[in-house]
Amino acid sequence: MGTKAPFENYLEIVSESAKILDLSDTVIEKLKTPNKIHEYEIKISTGKTFNAYRVQFNNARGPYKGGIRFHPEADIEEVKALAALMAIKCAVVNIPLGGGKGGVQCNPKELTQDEIQEVSRAWIQKMEAFIGPRQDIPAPDVYTNPQIMGYMLDEYEKIKGKSLPGVITGKPLELGGSAGRGAATAQGGVYILLDYIEKIGKKPEDLTVAVQGFGNAGYHAAQILHSHGFKIIAVSDSKGGIYDKKGMNPENIFAGKKQFGSIQAALQAKLDGKICAESTCCNPEVITNAELLEIECDILIPSALDGVLTVENAENVKASIILELANGPLTPEADTIFEKNNIVVIPDVLANAGGVTVSYFELVQNIQNFYWTESEVQVRLKKIMLDAFSDILAFSEEKNITLRKAAFVLAVQRIVRAMELRGQI
Ligand code: NAD
Repeated sequence: MGTKAPFENYLEIVSESAKILDLSDTVIEKLKTPNKIHEYEIKISTGKTFNAYRVQFNNARGPYKGGIRFHPEADIEEVKALAALMAIKCAVVNIPLGGGKGGVQCNPKELTQDEIQEVSRAWIQKMEAFIGPRQDIPAPDVYTNPQIMGYMLDEYEKIKGKSLPGVITGKPLELGGSAGRGAATAQGGVYILLDYIEKIGKKPEDLTVAVQGFGNAGYHAAQILHSHGFKIIAVSDSKGGIYDKKGMNPENIFAGKKQFGSIQAALQAKLDGKICAESTCCNPEVITNAELLEIECDILIPSALDGVLTVENAENVKASIILELANGPLTPEADTIFEKNNIVVIPDVLANAGGVTVSYFELVQNIQNFYWTESEVQVRLKKIMLDAFSDILAFSEEKNITLRKAAFVLAVQRIVRAMELRGQI
């Protein structure tokens, strides 16, 4: 991420928060150190071996919570930073969970489905003693999905000899997943955006939006915002983007992408007369991902990769609001430029926390063995997101700091308070 490693960025955030909160060196040291790192080698029946790990960063506010990634370059420094950021994110939205992260160093694209299942079960065999509904609750992350959570749940329950669906979230609905989890990340961000534009006296129909990334976070954000009347003028995926200043219908673009593989391939199919999408987008233009970030719009929503807004392009951004649905889409240098240019950044730890919030709801429903309707999930999600935003906005105004700094300082304050109350510091 940017010019610095993610863990260095985290350490910097802790140091900045420490100054504002006047924290002692002992407390700072505790905040910088993960509680536990579990690392093992796992072997599957085909003889292949992989490194498996789990970082348990901080559990002062509740059980560790965070995803498991299957990635060839999964690196422990990055995972440590992501685990720390999970503790921060849970504290930002004030849910009673701590921070963890884990993974397996492997390339799932080179594994058969049977091998993926074996890797998933092997991860649980090594980690089962350290995880549990009241201990540490993993979830999907990069290249892991509800099916993999299903394999992991099965292995865990087999070892424990009882039903414990709360050990893992992001499960398929049939295995105790929560209604509303699919769109939760985007929905949480949209609740905040709607609240913010109302506060500044703007209306959705007067605002244009560009969304980078058209996966779980990006597609749902575009679709929900479109349904509220915002004009979606640019969208993209890894192959590039499209732009139409009149606004486009994300559902049609999604259907085209599904059929033809990418957003631009769908546009080409339309131009070739292969599909005739019933949409408001008459003549979109092809744009690159780099162009999308600099397009004339009111709201920019990076929803794909980290480190896409940097010192190189930040000055060219025309949007006045950035909603960070991706994790870490801005480098610290870009953040400083946006602050100078009065561009409001709704930070990732708040903007995309709807995902972990509904994961928390999944855990709660699993423990109660009683399930909520989608509308019950939405009501609770909205309350948590808006309460968090209100606290952060008030804190940022009181201290005259950005929303990101306010979110971090408030989160660090909550974590430190929990550690104090436990007598750990
Ligand atoms: P996803 O895999 O569903 O979608 C990613 C999208 O990004 C795809 O459309 C892909 O084509 C696109 N993409 C990949 N490379 C790109 C590139 N170079 N330029 C532009 N687009 C590119 O992933 P997701 O779950 O939507 O996650 C996206 C981001 O949101 C990540 O940073 C993730 O950490 C963050 N996030 C997601 C959730 C969640 O619940 N899904 C929760 C919190 C944070």
